[in-house]
Order: sequence, then structure tokens, then C-alpha cells
Amino acid sequence: MTIQAPEGTRDLLPDEASYWDAFYSIAKDVFSKYGYIPIYTPQIEQTELFVRGIGEATDVVSKEMFTAISGENLKRLVEGGSIKAKSRLSLRPEGTAGVVRAVVQHDLVPQGAPPAKLMYAGPMFRAERPQRGRQRQFNQIGIECLGADDPTIDAEAIIMLMSFYERIGIERDSMRLLVNSMGCENCRPAYRDLVHAYLAERESELCDTCKTRMEMNPLRAFDCKNEACAAIMESAPKITDHLCEDCKEHYGQMFGLLKRAGLDFVEDPSLVRGLDYYTRTVFEVQAISSQSAQNAIGGGGRYDKLTEEIGGRATPGFGFALGYERCVLALQDAGFQFAKAKKCDVFVACASPDVRMDAFDLVQQLRAIGRIAEMDHQSRSLKSQFKLADKLDSRLVAIIGPDELAQGLIKIRNMDSHEERSVPINEALAAIDGEL
Ligand code: AMP
Repeated sequence: MTIQAPEGTRDLLPDEASYWDAFYSIAKDVFSKYGYIPIYTPQIEQTELFVRGIGEATDVVSKEMFTAISGENLKRLVEGGSIKAKSRLSLRPEGTAGVVRAVVQHDLVPQGAPPAKLMYAGPMFRAERPQRGRQRQFNQIGIECLGADDPTIDAEAIIMLMSFYERIGIERDSMRLLVNSMGCENCRPAYRDLVHAYLAERESELCDTCKTRMEMNPLRAFDCKNEACAAIMESAPKITDHLCEDCKEHYGQMFGLLKRAGLDFVEDPSLVRGLDYYTRTVFEVQAISSQSAQNAIGGGGRYDKLTEEIGGRATPGFGFALGYERCVLALQDAGFQFAKAKKCDVFVACASPDVRMDAFDLVQQLRAIGRIAEMDHQSRSLKSQFKLADKLDSRLVAIIGPDELAQGLIKIRNMDSHEERSVPINEALAAIDGEL
């Protein structure tokens, strides 16, 4: 039996791979206008980073992380030995913890420095139950801004993300933007206690997961899909009624800035998001047209305590990540037709094997002037070279024949109009370039 890709992973085949590249180029173009520059961090990190950063009680850390272990260390464990804490590695389930670790490790935001605005793209890994729009390896594009707590950062990042979606073709009225504030270390503990007390009074009606959540992280009960729990959470105390004055002010300003920018959004006090590090602003973007249960195409928020959690100096932060695969599904569900990757501008055909060297030279020259050029590499007949040129969607075919070559000429055929003309070989490059 042939070996298949692991469950919950997908190959980005060439046509789709060009979409991933295009999305990332658009993201770089849009985000760079806001001062974001790329950073790349490892796909494996010490497990401890995620435990401390994302939170031990979160689903992501407690159930969904893939452990990465060297063969040697695995043997040691199987034999009942132990391994050093720094050798306990996990595949990253999200991008924020790694970027924040890098910022702290390399002191990218020294005291008094302007905020570090960083963007990343790449695969994330979560051992979730695979379904449409939910994979075990998926691709995210994200940003992190460290060193500023002003709500202008939150607002401009959300505005920037919405313009990215529009640039890739997701229409504004086919998206829903949900926003909330999670409070801070001053107001959230009291609110958490309130939700805990509320749940404790109804414990017998809760699902088993929410019974555990109630003790570990009661706010996660807002995410429960169980009907009975969802009904209970409808009437639970709302965080926005329990924010401290500073958080209320921050939320109000962020809100005002989104309105000034003309963004439609929905305040959703039950939006808590799955990761423990969020403080104040949280948001999520959903694709209304999506036919999947997994319709969140991106989300993020503020994490003013995260650097301290992982041992760094207090540095406020804000970030988001968008899911590449979910964006593709949203576009497909809305009927968007994906164009095929461009394969060839000009195919150089040989009328006889003796002219292969000349064809080789011309193809190289064409590539050097920036054209996508190809020739036959399988000793095909001239007829089958034409078929290949057609398959590659080549706009032009340059035909080199021994007789014409002896006269210093080369033929150029336009594959759309089927017109053919001979040009002097020393003018071939310019003639081809001019016709493309
Ligand atoms: P999160 O890191 O959970 O805030 O996720 C940010 C975005 O990544 C989500 O809005 C989704 O678009 C995408 N995403 C998260 N988990 C998955 C997954 N298992 N499969 C595909 N996309 C995902």
C-alpha cells in the first residue's frame, strides 16, 4: 500500500501552493504599510513555553499538543529514565508564544524603544479531531506587536486584518467581526469568581467537560457547544458589566476607533477565546458564507502579561492569526474561482535534435530577462512539443529549425492567434518579450 499523508494534514498541491504564496505576499504588502516586518521562529519550542504562555488548563496545551522527541530521548523514557526539561519539546500549536519568546530572548523591545511590529507565516500543529476546516497541521499568517498598550494598536491591527481579507477576495459583508474585552489582572479574577459561583449553582446541569472547566478555567464554559451548557451561559454574568475603569476606557476607545474606520462589528461578551494569555481586547472574524462549522477565519487579542509569564520584563502585546485553509474554504464557499498557477510564457521547440543546444541557450536568455521559459527535456517529436506547450498554457512557442537557423532566423508562433512569423535570431529575445 502506498503511504498517505498523516491524518489531519493536507498537501498544498502546486496550484494551491501558489495561493499560499499569494496570500503571504498580500499580507506582507498590507501589513508592511502598518510597519510590520517578518520574523521566523522555530516550529518546535520547549514544551514549558506553551505550558507557561498559553496555559496548562487550555485545550490546546492539555490535549492538543504534539510532543517532539528525539529517538534517543524516547528510548531513555521507554526504559524508565528521564530527560532534561529543555529536551521536552512540542510542535508549536500557535505562533504567539514563539515570537514573544524571541522578543524576550533577543531583547527586541529595550526600555523606551518603539513597539516591535512583527509578522510571521507558517504551519501550526494541533492534535484535534480532523474535520472540514480543522486540521492537525494548518497554516497561519499572524502579527504580534510588543511594547505598546494604546488601543490604537488594537484597532489598527483589526482594520489591517479586515483589509487583508478584502484584498484576497472575501467581501466585507460576508464576514462578521466579533469583539470583546477580557479585562485585566485587576478585574478578571473577581469576574472569574462570579462565573465560577454561577456555574457551581448549576453544576448538576453541566456537561462533564464544563464541570472540569468550572474549576480549571470557568470562562471556557462560554465556548461549550453542548445545548444545555450554552443555554446556561446565555444568562451568565457578562465580563463587560464587570470591567475596571481602565479596561472600560481602553475598550471604549478601541471601539470608537473601529467605528471611525467604518467597520461594522458585533460586541460579543461571551467571546473568550481558547488561550489563557488574553487580556482586554479579544476579537474573532467569522465567514458568514462558510458551509463549515469551523467558520472562524482569524482572531486574536491583547496579551499584556505574556512576557512576564515566560520570564521577561513587563511588555504589553497584541496579536492575531488568520487561518489560511479557512480563508480558502470561505472563498470557495462564496463561489470564488481559483485561477491556475501560471506555468509558461514561452516554450522553445526544437524541429530537430541538432538544435537542442541553441534552444537551451535561448531558454536561459529568456529566463534571464524575467520570462517563464521552458523546453523539451524528454526527446519529444515536434508535434508532441506543441502539445506540451499547449498543456503548459504557453502564450508563445519559439521554433528553432536547422534550415532557418542556417539563415539566422527563428519562428515565433502565437498560440492564441495561431499567427507565425520569422525573426532574425539576434532579435528573437526582443521580439518574444515584445509579444508577451
Ligand atoms: P487561534 O490560534 O486558535 O486563535 O486560531 C487562529 C485562526 O487559525 C483561526 O481563526 C482559524 O482560522 C485557524 N485555525 C485554528 N485552528 C485550526 C485548525 N485546527 N485547522 C485549521 N485552521 C485552524
